[in-house]
Parts: sequence; structure tokens; C-alpha cells
Amino acid sequence: MIHYSCDRCKREIDADSDLRYIVRIEIEAAMDHMAGEVVDDQDHLEVLEDLLESSDDYCESSLSDECYQRKRYDLCGECYRQYMKNPIGKEASLPFGFSNN
Ligand SMILES: [Zn+2]
Repeated sequence: MIHYSCDRCKREIDADSDLRYIVRIEIEAAMDHMAGEVVDDQDHLEVLEDLLESSDDYCESSLSDECYQRKRYDLCGECYRQYMKNPIGKEASLPFGFSNN
């Protein structure tokens, strides 16, 4: 029998009684900034091809981890709820009702 443990709290997840959540994160570097470097008098199609080639080179280099990353985590029910409250790790926001307005 396969045993899973939560990647966040390290608690063992009992497949019979606990819900296990699989979180998949895909991170891809946007290459938008490269389009900004395009020289005006170049043929657009040519530029596009160059751009595709250069972004390939860029991603195949040692910087590939910065271009594309894929992660997978197993979470227990509790950690899933905590994760969903703040999936991108934002600074803790003020509690509801804090505002005096
Ligand atoms: Zn957990």
C-alpha cells in the first residue's frame, strides 16, 4: 500500500480516512520583454522567428529553471485549506472588518 505524507506539515495522509489534495504548479517565464527589443525596420515574420529561436536558446541554457518549473505537492485537508487561503504566499492581509470605513 502506498503511503502519502503531506508536503507541508509532513503528516501522514491515511488514504482511507483522509482526503489527499494534489497541487500542481506550473511556472513559465513570460517572454514578453523580448518583443520589446525588436528593431522597427526588421521584417515582422523574421523577427518572430528570431524571437522564437532566441527564447528556445534562453530556456535551454542554465537558466532553464527560471523559464519553466513544474511542481507537484501532496497536501492533507488542513494544509489544502491553508494553502487555498494564500496560494501565492502573499503578505498576510488585514482581517475582514478591520477597516473603519
Ligand atoms: Zn498537511
